[in-house]
Amino acid sequence: MRRVKVGQRLKVKLPHSEVCMHMRVADQVMEVEILAEAVQLYKDGQKFSGPILLGEAGVYVKYVTGRIGRVRELWADVEEVIDYRSIGVGESSDWYYLRCGCQLFVSQPGWNVQSTDISVFCEEMQRLHQEYADVALKNIRAAFPQARAIDEHAGVPKEFLDAEEADRKAKGWVA
Ligand SMILES: [Zn+2]
Repeated sequence: MRRVKVGQRLKVKLPHSEVCMHMRVADQVMEVEILAEAVQLYKDGQKFSGPILLGEAGVYVKYVTGRIGRVRELWADVEEVIDYRSIGVGESSDWYYLRCGCQLFVSQPGWNVQSTDISVFCEEMQRLHQEYADVALKNIRAAFPQARAIDEHAGVPKEFLDAEEADRKAKGWVA
């Protein structure tokens, strides 16, 4: 299960709900668009029938109370994210779903790539984290290049990373 957002296009495995059974799409992997209260199915790029309710398409609603209050989260059995950038990358603190398989939280401002207990890292990202840990445990300031490699993998803009690096140099930190 992955967290999904309104406006996102993705491929999900449809459940054996009454509506999906009736439309003969139960257990099929289909392209969908998440709407506020419903899901639009697509077949060969064309709208398939009218929108169906979230639950009927296997999208679960979960309410989580966090630091900013009660948040409505949508979760689905995602097979493939067609357009992860539709989930507000760079605009606010949010989950990133990368094509390589990484699922990570990036907090703004500052582009902090967070590891949480539900983060998922692809093999390459795991290797980058290991390289970072190997250096940082001995000398955290020597691990700036490794930290940068992690940020680059997560899609943090080059301009931001360059500015950060220039700032460190100005402060006289060894990179
Ligand atoms: Zn990755």
